[in-house]
Amino acid sequence: MISLSATEVAQATGGRLVGVQNPESVLISSVTTDSREVTDGTLFVAKPGEATDGHKFVPQAAEAGAVLNLLEREVTNDAGEPYPGVVVPDVVEAMGALASNVIDRLREKHPVTVVAVTGSVGKTTTKDLLAGIFGSQGPTVAPRNSYNGEVGVPLTVFTAHEDTRYFVIEMGANHLGNIEYLCNMVHPDVGAVLCVGTAHAGEFGGVENIARTKGEMVEGLAPNGTAVLNDDDPRVREMRTRTQANIVSFGLGSEPNAPEHGDDRVWAEDVTVGADGCPRFTLHLPDGSAHEIESKLIGAHHVSNILAAASVAFAAGIEPQAIVAGLNGQGAQSRWRMERTERPDGVTVINDAYNANPQSMRAALQTLAQMGRGDGQTAPRRTVAVLGGMYELGDESVAAHDALGQLLVRMNISHVVAVGDLARPIFTAATLEGSWGDEAQWVATAEEAEDHLKGALQPGDIVLFKSSNAAGLNHLGDRVAAEG
Ligand code: ATP
Ligand code: MG
Repeated sequence: MISLSATEVAQATGGRLVGVQNPESVLISSVTTDSREVTDGTLFVAKPGEATDGHKFVPQAAEAGAVLNLLEREVTNDAGEPYPGVVVPDVVEAMGALASNVIDRLREKHPVTVVAVTGSVGKTTTKDLLAGIFGSQGPTVAPRNSYNGEVGVPLTVFTAHEDTRYFVIEMGANHLGNIEYLCNMVHPDVGAVLCVGTAHAGEFGGVENIARTKGEMVEGLAPNGTAVLNDDDPRVREMRTRTQANIVSFGLGSEPNAPEHGDDRVWAEDVTVGADGCPRFTLHLPDGSAHEIESKLIGAHHVSNILAAASVAFAAGIEPQAIVAGLNGQGAQSRWRMERTERPDGVTVINDAYNANPQSMRAALQTLAQMGRGDGQTAPRRTVAVLGGMYELGDESVAAHDALGQLLVRMNISHVVAVGDLARPIFTAATLEGSWGDEAQWVATAEEAEDHLKGALQPGDIVLFKSSNAAGLNHLGDRVAAEG
């Protein structure tokens, strides 16, 4: 990270210095909320959590090399002396203020471009594509994993160096105001909204609130900034009225969907998906150029994320050749997102059990069905769906799992294993609708699913693992991928 003194941390956060003799000479070189990640020169953030309070770990952090702590109250050692710190009313807000300060400092020195992505699904995929494109152009900071909240975004910003030129920021939300807060922190030059789905609908109190929250992304953009909007999602398309920024809209289909607006348009033509599940299409950019895309991502649903990444990069002034090279060069960067393994016995394992909601379930199953059908050159293959629960759906939970069961029947999936209580309605609905016999199973645990699959999988099968992270099917998928 860029080097900051204790004085600068106190100034940026409006905090009070305690236990520091010579604050100008205390220099921090990294920031963490996890005492196990502390090394020499770390600023340790003592975050009060649900399970445990970070203030308890201040002594441990000091032992590991922390030179300063961000605190909500003084912490003293056995001799009654305070550990060096900056005391603030709220450490999470203070992290945000410090992150803002870091970006402002860099912006004063050289041109810096901040791009941000939000949406109900596809954020991390789009972020990873953008990290690849911008990374080929100059020093780029992007989130580790899915760091996308009030803690994750500052932690991402803190990894910047003196020469950082690009920030790729993922923004997630579960309450009104979350995205506005993050935008006020990093002030994106380009802000993209991918889609408005029903993820976290329970917590939000309805899909309209989700749309309002995602829309905060474009409200805060400056007039010379750019809003990137998915034209195929009606709730996102409406957001054009909520921004004073320029607009780049993107969508599928051979004709721009909304030519009357005169937007800069990014669109996909002639989308096909091979037996490998990877989409190919012609990408049209607003400068009139057309490019062949052969993605390494699996699933037709990623076309939308690829278009989003192309739009953001174009809006940020990246040359088309670099955009296309970045889009074509990259498969899944983060684990358990349509991660493919070819077993020696000819079984293909697709592990997409990082998270799940109705939209991403449908997309994954469509891909499975498509890969099973083949592309005309290759023979059809048996398809096996191992599905766990979709968490955080609130009142809609049972109906959503039930609908998924019906979908499996319509898609002609060959063999279904529903895992865990939450996933039971998948099995019930599928067996009511279809004539499955032994080809549909419900099991209580991932271990039982593993036993079942040992007998059920046949050479040539394609097997998909998909559930919310909490259901743990990602590790089951890893074990099954290692067999054969
Ligand atoms: P999180 O909220 O967990 O951070 P995210 O928005 O970062 O999620 P990704 O990690 O990119 O999303 O993708 C999550 C899941 O959604 C994956 O299973 C992926 O294949 C699927 N997915 C990604 N984009 C789309 C899309 N446009 N439509 C449907 N499903 C999608
Ligand atoms: Mg993510």
